[in-house]
Amino acid sequence: MEYAYDDQNIFAKILRGEIPNKTVYENDHALAFHDIQPQAPVHVLVIPKGPYMSLDHFARDASADEQAGFFQAVAAVCDQMGLEEGFRGISNTRGHGVQEVPHYHMHIIGGKPLGRMLSV
Ligand code: AMP
Repeated sequence: MEYAYDDQNIFAKILRGEIPNKTVYENDHALAFHDIQPQAPVHVLVIPKGPYMSLDHFARDASADEQAGFFQAVAAVCDQMGLEEGFRGISNTRGHGVQEVPHYHMHIIGGKPLGRMLSV
């Protein structure tokens, strides 16, 4: 599969500081910030700083350091947001996954019971 990263996507603009974000956590390889349209009391997005389009792209091509930095950010968000009761991590991917922003991100959603994973 070919991955053609578009550096004009909104998360690339956030990473370049061209539009603001409400940062929760940042390290060398990842940024975590509040979703602009929260679906639950906690709704944070974790994104890598590198140009990866999707979960599979990141898993395939990101370095071990980038992957470690990303998951350190996930852990920091879980600590900071008080998610001991649980949460859901979601990475929507391409068309069938209804991914709107083509820069890899994991939604960390929680703060209340979330119901079943899928309603079909
Ligand atoms: P997805 O459908 O998985 O690509 O989700 C993209 C998410 O990005 C949605 O939940 C949007 O609310 C969120 N979003 C879009 N623009 C911004 C922004 N400027 N700051 C924070 N979150 C955003």
